[in-house]
Amino acid sequence: MHEVVQVAASVGFGVLVGLAVQYSAKIAHVRNPGYARFVGVVIGLFAMYAAWVWYFWILFGYRAIVLKVLLTEPASLFRGMENIAAQGMWKMFDWQPKGGQLYTVWTLEALMVIGFSVALSASKNATYCEACRRWSKKFDMLLHLPLVETDELRTSLEEERYEGLLSLLGQPCDMNARIDVTVAACPLCTNSNFMTVTHSAVTGKYQGQPVITSKPVVKNLIVPGTVVETLKAAKQTGGIGHSEFIAKKLSRLRTSRTPAEPPADTP
Ligand SMILES: [Zn+2]
Repeated sequence: MHEVVQVAASVGFGVLVGLAVQYSAKIAHVRNPGYARFVGVVIGLFAMYAAWVWYFWILFGYRAIVLKVLLTEPASLFRGMENIAAQGMWKMFDWQPKGGQLYTVWTLEALMVIGFSVALSASKNATYCEACRRWSKKFDMLLHLPLVETDELRTSLEEERYEGLLSLLGQPCDMNARIDVTVAACPLCTNSNFMTVTHSAVTGKYQGQPVITSKPVVKNLIVPGTVVETLKAAKQTGGIGHSEFIAKKLSRLRTSRTPAEPPADTP
């Protein structure tokens, strides 16, 4: 029973750290998954350090001086860990790991906590508008665009560069290998817009029907309202022969991304 509690505590700690990271990413409006993952690693490492400080603090009877030394001299913490590794820390199923074995267990434990932290930091699937307290509405629209290099596309979208994707609007598209775009937006305001881009390809046939395999490029990425507007307009016009319109929208988008003064046509 004691062993189960010990393992559950480790897993629980990992999940808690992960949830804390997820919540922080949400309130900080972290929209770049790469950055969210990086923050996940940093917080995961910090959580492990904090857990060890906590452990030694309890071990030495909650003495303030211990806490001070541990927080100001990380080396003392590692010396403490070395001592514990030499003696062994706990026994589980008649197994008392020491030295290298114990370091391996600690490493796995740390990787698990950091793993949870990273996984949960980047898994932001909710298309919820915090300001209006409403779930966003998925538009009944799906744009098929010609296939481009998906890794490059992902990078540019995560870096808030939409020109590459929008320049595909109206271009001829091979339905056997294509990019699909859907958007969702808050029904009440124009501030919460989400875009999902998938790479779809016909990979075979089943009973005469094409089998389509889809791989996400970006999922529910937060995008500016102008991007959603442009995509909706392209859908309405069939996306063909409106390059002038799209160019105008794009220039507006570039203007709106420039800091300092807002564009003159903003009400
Ligand atoms: Zn809203």
